[in-house]
Order: sequence, then C-alpha cells, then structure tokens
Amino acid sequence: MKLSTFAAALVAVSTTLSVAQPVSAAVTADEDKFAIAIHGGAGTITRAHLTDEQEAAYTAKLTEALNAGHRILEDGGTSMDAVIAAIQIMEASPLFNAGLGAVYTFDGGHELDASIMDGATLEAGAVAGVKTIKSPIALARSVMEHSVHVMLSGEGAEQFAAEQGLEQVANDYFDTEYRFEQLEQAREDLGVADKQAYVELDNNYKYGTVGAVAVDKQGNLSAATSTGGMTAKRYGRIGDSPIIGAGTWADNSSCAVSATGHGEYFIRYHVAADICSRVKYLGESVETAGDTVIHDVLLPAGGTGGVIILDARGNVHMPFNTEGMYRASRVGNGEAEVAIYQD
Ligand code: ASP
Repeated sequence: MKLSTFAAALVAVSTTLSVAQPVSAAVTADEDKFAIAIHGGAGTITRAHLTDEQEAAYTAKLTEALNAGHRILEDGGTSMDAVIAAIQIMEASPLFNAGLGAVYTFDGGHELDASIMDGATLEAGAVAGVKTIKSPIALARSVMEHSVHVMLSGEGAEQFAAEQGLEQVANDYFDTEYRFEQLEQAREDLGVADKQAYVELDNNYKYGTVGAVAVDKQGNLSAATSTGGMTAKRYGRIGDSPIIGAGTWADNSSCAVSATGHGEYFIRYHVAADICSRVKYLGESVETAGDTVIHDVLLPAGGTGGVIILDARGNVHMPFNTEGMYRASRVGNGEAEVAIYQD
C-alpha cells in the first residue's frame, strides 16, 4: 500500500515535506555497515536427516543467494533489491519450500504466500494463496509499489499479476517428487486429521520457507518472506509468512525480521513485530529481543521455528527453537557465515 499517499494528504495541510519523506528515519548511514541475512526454513534438521551431498547442496545455494544480495548492497543498491535477489534464487531452487519445490496442499496442488516490507517508509506488500505466480516475492513487491493495498489473495492477486506483466506458470511447475512423497506420508500420518496430528505433521514436513533481511549503505532496512506454507494444508489455510507483523517486519527505527516455523503460533504471537517492538520500546538488543520471543514466549506456548533479525547498525541474530535452521549472514565486507544445525 502506498502509505505515502495518505501521508501526503496529511502533511500537505501543514508542511511542505516531500511525499517521499521516510516515515522512519534511517539510523546514521554507515558505508561499512551494510549487511544481509537469509534463512531457508527451520525444523527437524539434524545431521542424521541430511546426507553429505544434501548438506553441500544447501550450503552452496544459501551462499549463492546470500552473495547475490550482498553484491547489490556492496554496489550501493537498496536493501529492497537485495532481499528480492536473494529470495528469488531460493524460490527458483527445488531445495526450499518456496516457488519451485513448494509443499503440496492436501488436495495435491500448491498455494503460495509471500510478503515484503520497507523499513524506511513502512510500506508493505503481500500475497496469499496464489497458484500460478512463478516468483511470489516479486508479486508482493508489485502489490506494495503498484497497488493501493497491502495484501491480495487468490484469483484477484493473479489477475493483478497478469495486469502487472508478472510471469505466470502452470501449478505443476512447482511440483517435485520429494515434496509429493512428503504429502503421501503426511496424508497417512494425518489419518483423521485431528489437531494433534497436524501439529506433529508441522514439525516433520514443512520446513523450507525462505526469508531475507538486509540493511543498505543508506541505513535502510527491508525484510521479505516467501513460502508454500505447510504440507497437506486445507481449506485455503494461510500461515504467518504473508502477514505483516507475524512473518515479516521492517522498521528502520528498530529492526527487520523474517520468520519461519509453525505459522499459527507466529500469527497469534505477532512474532516479527513483537521482536522489533521490544527493540524499539524496551531498548533491547536484537539478541535479547529475539531470544526472549523465540525461547521464552513462543516455545512454552508450543510454537516451533525461528527468525532472522537485523538492525540498522548491522547487528544480526538468528535464533530458533528447532533442531536446525538453514541460515546465512554477511556483514559489511566480512566473510559469509552459513549454518544449518544448532552447533
Ligand atoms: N511459517 C510457514 C507457514 O506456517 C511455514 C514455515 O515457515 O515453515 O506457512
């Protein structure tokens, strides 16, 4: 949504401020403090679950996505362009539950969710339950930049995508054998689809959502998340990933967050915005705020998953309460740090 449209109406009566005036000022721009962090999902990811080849493939793809975003920041590009570049590499890879390789719904199709937020202006865009959009994160950005809304869903979102000239594909473009096997196993495990079975299922079969947070040389933060949701989801279920404040949040005056995990809990605990509110109003560091929400609030409530957090000074923290989370970060011209397991 173009918040600036409303802001313009408000400021026009009393000041001559430009419409493009950021609503949330950048913390001092620092040429060396650009940074990016990404995730590729959290869950039951242990050494026993991955072969050496799989581990190498994830590490290589995470590094490629991280460096694509990093290159943009290094060249003076925006954090918005950097998070999009990183996410699109992961959406195009069958390794992750986003774009190609998205999990299957109970009925055997794919429904994708994504969102993005600009920490300088607090503008945001999101799409939910789209079936034909090759890059859901590109559509989320289009919603933010070219519509008057924040979130579009289903057929309407696809109509908007067609009007914007975004690439559309048949739903089976997202198919992978590995995810189909997960669906078959999930259907078996679900049995009568009781609530407890669904929770167990969530822990075992859904990981692979992708996300990115970045701060550019101007000190502006952005956050973005893209997912296929949860294996065997039904009835048009939407998770936290496209919900601003739950799965994605960015505000220059606090931090940027992208989440992954059991979406129902992330929605109810408003995880991404809660972390940044702690930073903003309690003055907590990204470490304290993230650890408190992920380990002390979410876990006791039954919510599993993790987040990547970045503030405008380049402080990165990536807490999770599952066995693993695919993650990577790079601050300034430092080395890329890529990790999968807890240790
Ligand atoms: N948060 C996503 C959802 O609930 C899934 C995930 O991150 O693994 O749709």
